Amino acid sequence: MPLASAKGMLETAAKEGWAVGQFNINNLEWTKAVLLTANELKSPVILGVSEGAGKYMCGYKTVSAMASAMVESLNIKVPVVLHLDHGSYEAAKACISAGFSSIMFDGSHLPFDENIEKTKELVSICAEKGISLEAEVGSIGGEEDGVVGMGEVADPEECRKIAELGVTMLAAGIGNIHGKYPANWKGLDFSTLERIHAATGSIPLVLHGGTGIPADMIRKAIALGVSKINVNTECQLAFQAATRAYIESGKDLEGKGFDPRKLLAPGVAAIQQTVKDKMELFGSIGKA
Ligand SMILES: [Zn+2]
Repeated sequence: MPLASAKGMLETAAKEGWAVGQFNINNLEWTKAVLLTANELKSPVILGVSEGAGKYMCGYKTVSAMASAMVESLNIKVPVVLHLDHGSYEAAKACISAGFSSIMFDGSHLPFDENIEKTKELVSICAEKGISLEAEVGSIGGEEDGVVGMGEVADPEECRKIAELGVTMLAAGIGNIHGKYPANWKGLDFSTLERIHAATGSIPLVLHGGTGIPADMIRKAIALGVSKINVNTECQLAFQAATRAYIESGKDLEGKGFDPRKLLAPGVAAIQQTVKDKMELFGSIGKA
């Protein structure tokens, strides 16, 4: 099965009241863990690739070739989306030519008119190629240079203007942030989410920074129009904890425990468990 656009699955999810998880990948093990879990649970899935992760994995062409080949050789039967996460205009174009099936153009830091203009241009390029496109309004907070932002809130009117350009899905800040949430975090701003949903009609909304948002808030966000939820840090923390436990218990010193295929296995299993828990919470199991 070739890589899929996110359009159909997100429209169905929005209509039926569930959400598709985007799980960011970092290497072959990560990708394999996410794909096998999605396939086993019959859930559609979105593989997220940040610009940094793309560079780390030797470029977008390598990532695209790996994902496509893995879908084929693992005989994955569920729809798999390969999605650029928080891409610049240049990265968006590079991923389109590298074979990605979905793009996020993050123009949220640009002057609004420039965000509109560049998003518009990418809408027509993506439409022609059958690629889904995510746009962002109002930047999403998170830790940057040690400063933790509380999460910005997007302007519903700006959201309406971007949604009307014909993007597939829209990321809008509603108090969510990337990375771990600080202890004094105030929670998601549901009244803003309601106003954004009302202003943008039926367009699927995207919730970034899915790590650490309590389950009841996730369910409420889905009920209010969120159809795609990004998970990144949570898989990293699960991988780290399991790898640390393996080494601290001295398993790498026993027999062939140093073999990378053994050393990385507990981390991979931990990613799979995290993906499964999220798919259960998002309601995507059995929807492929
Ligand atoms: Zn994000």
